[in-house]
Amino acid sequence: MNIILLGPPGAGKGTQARKLVEDRDMIQLSTGDMLREARTSGTEMGQIVAEVMDSGKLVTDEIVIGLIREKLEGDKKGGFIFDGFPRTLAQADALEELLAEMDETLDAVIELRVQDEALVARIVGRSTCGNCGEVYHDLTKPIPADGKCTVCGGTEFKRRADDNEESLKTRLMEYYKQTSPLLGYYHVKGALRSVDGLADMRDVEAAIAEVLDA
Ligand code: AMP
Repeated sequence: MNIILLGPPGAGKGTQARKLVEDRDMIQLSTGDMLREARTSGTEMGQIVAEVMDSGKLVTDEIVIGLIREKLEGDKKGGFIFDGFPRTLAQADALEELLAEMDETLDAVIELRVQDEALVARIVGRSTCGNCGEVYHDLTKPIPADGKCTVCGGTEFKRRADDNEESLKTRLMEYYKQTSPLLGYYHVKGALRSVDGLADMRDVEAAIAEVLDA
C-alpha cells in the first residue's frame, strides 16, 4: 500500500507517518528529512538547500524528485508513505511515472485538514529528540524535567531553523500557491480522503486507519 500524507506545515504529517511505520511496517519517505540530511553534507548543493529551506521556499523539483527516485529503489516493506512529497504538480506527475515504472499504484492521498491559526501555535515551540525523532512542544508536551526523551532516553533535542513565524508565513504561502492545487488533482483522480487534523492525535490515527482498511 502506497499513500501520500498531504497538508500544510504543522498538520501532523510526520507524527502520523511515524505511527504508520510502527504499526504497519511502512517506509516513511520524508523529503524534508532527506533535505535536512543533505544540508549537513558540506557540499555546495547542501548549502543551497539550507538557504532555501530556512527561507521557507521550496527546493527545486529536480532535487526532490532525484531524492525520492533513489529511495524507491530500496526495500518496499509494507509500502511507502510519502510525507511532504509531492508539493507541486510537476512532482505529482513525476511520482505517478515513478510508481508506474515499478508497477506500483498510489492507494490513497490523505489530507490532514488544519486551520492556519492552529499551525503557528503548533510549529513555534516545536522540538524533536535528536535520536528517535519524537516530537515535543514547549506548551503542550514539554521535554521532561530530567532532560530525557520519554521514548528512547536520548538527551539531545533539536529545533528546526525554519520553525519561526517568518519562515512559517513563507511556508504557508508556498503551500497555498504550489501544493494545495494537488487537492483538486487527487480529488479528480478519486484518491483524495480528508481527515480532521485538529482532532486528538489518537482520533487522527483512527481516522487514517479507517481509510487504509476500507
Ligand atoms: P518539511 O520537513 O516537509 O516541512 O520540509 C521542510 C522544507 O524542506 C520545506 O519548507 C522546503 O523548503 C523543503 N522541502 C521539503 N519537501 C519538499 C518538496 N517535496 N519540494 C520542495 N521542497 C521541499
